[in-house]
Amino acid sequence: MALMDIVAHGLWAGLGAVWLGRQRPVSRKQITGAVVLGMLPDVVHLLPVAGWAVFGGGTAAALATYAFAMPGAEPAMPVLVTEAAHHLHCMMHSALIAAAIGWLLSRRPEWWRVLVVPLTGWWLHVGIDVFTHSAEYYPSPVLYPITQKGFDGIAWNAPWFLLANYAALALAACLLWRGRQG
Ligand SMILES: [Zn+2]
Repeated sequence: MALMDIVAHGLWAGLGAVWLGRQRPVSRKQITGAVVLGMLPDVVHLLPVAGWAVFGGGTAAALATYAFAMPGAEPAMPVLVTEAAHHLHCMMHSALIAAAIGWLLSRRPEWWRVLVVPLTGWWLHVGIDVFTHSAEYYPSPVLYPITQKGFDGIAWNAPWFLLANYAALALAACLLWRGRQG
């Protein structure tokens, strides 16, 4: 599993939440929540590996190797740690699970009102990952648990794509900023 571009995910989530704030009242806490939930899908699955590094036989070096590994180059870990990390990653990247949780929360209007903006950070992450991972580079398991297969998109770690992504972020930020002035 690889560490995705967490910073870009956080920025997209933040911009999305600010944009939503133009359409409806959105609090600063909700924007922060969107940024945190926008980054969380690429963090949660590191917890079992970190736990193994702290309490088990793992090391910080193995955790770092795991976080930045290319497919097939992940460090050897106990089966339980590997499985836990794998399924946590799948759950956080599944549009089905994200939709199910959204549906459950939408039935509680008082929760929905508070949580819908932070949740868009997560949903945006799931959506972005579908197209920014390739078949060779950790395809995003968007239909987990039905299938762990993903689409063959563009791997986000291609240098030109990283550049284009940050250029698009800067452009979106400018447009948002201009929208505020106008
Ligand atoms: Zn991700």
